[in-house]
Amino acid sequence: MFIDVHCHLDFFKDNEIKKIVERAGKTGLNIILTQGIDAKSNEKVLSLAEKYDVVKAALGLYPTDAISLSDKDIEKIIDFIRKNRDKMMAIGEVGLDYKEDEKQHEKQKEIFRRFIKLSIELDKPIIVHSRKAEAEVIDILEEVKAKKVVMHCFSGSLKLVKKIVDNKWFLTIPTNVTFSEHFQKVIQVVPIGQLFCETDSPYLHPIKGEKNNEPGNVIESYKKIAEIKKITLIETEKKLEENYKKLF
Ligand SMILES: [Zn+2]
Repeated sequence: MFIDVHCHLDFFKDNEIKKIVERAGKTGLNIILTQGIDAKSNEKVLSLAEKYDVVKAALGLYPTDAISLSDKDIEKIIDFIRKNRDKMMAIGEVGLDYKEDEKQHEKQKEIFRRFIKLSIELDKPIIVHSRKAEAEVIDILEEVKAKKVVMHCFSGSLKLVKKIVDNKWFLTIPTNVTFSEHFQKVIQVVPIGQLFCETDSPYLHPIKGEKNNEPGNVIESYKKIAEIKKITLIETEKKLEENYKKLF
């Protein structure tokens, strides 16, 4: 089975989602793990997981969306996730994003810690965003002693990648690996037992400049892993399926 471990199906319109899921089915995609980014998105993600067999839910709060929320609002989202523990596979998308102004950093860190603790409490993997905060994200995950970690689209240095590997966490290979030398190197240095594939749909299209990526394209990441690791596509598929069963 092929697995897309990180995408945003709820960014598409309902009639598009139906077609996207159908097309994904034709490529042999069996699991589409779609991510929630705020209260509304979490609800939508759960309803999609109920509607489509192949769609699984991750519930979270995107770091730059979290910043404008009150403590009470954040607590509400955490409660919602707790209540839906049995309907979800993971916490995500959460993490740090230092693209925005510096005043946000402390609050982002504090919220991120709360979600790591939640993932430990619920015993669910945490799917982590880390834009321009790659070292900080690792530090906090180590500090809070997170175990089941998937670093999504990790763009930090290979030295940091090594740290992730040593922590026995997982990394994803996004579909833009077709032209991204960074992710091609990540495939080289990370053992296959710690890899997943993702599309981050609608982003990170395998063709440079193209928009509206979709989960069916995740096969491009699998192909690149097979090519670089010098194994067959079927072996790649099996290994990543084993990883999924081990972690989720
Ligand atoms: Zn994402």
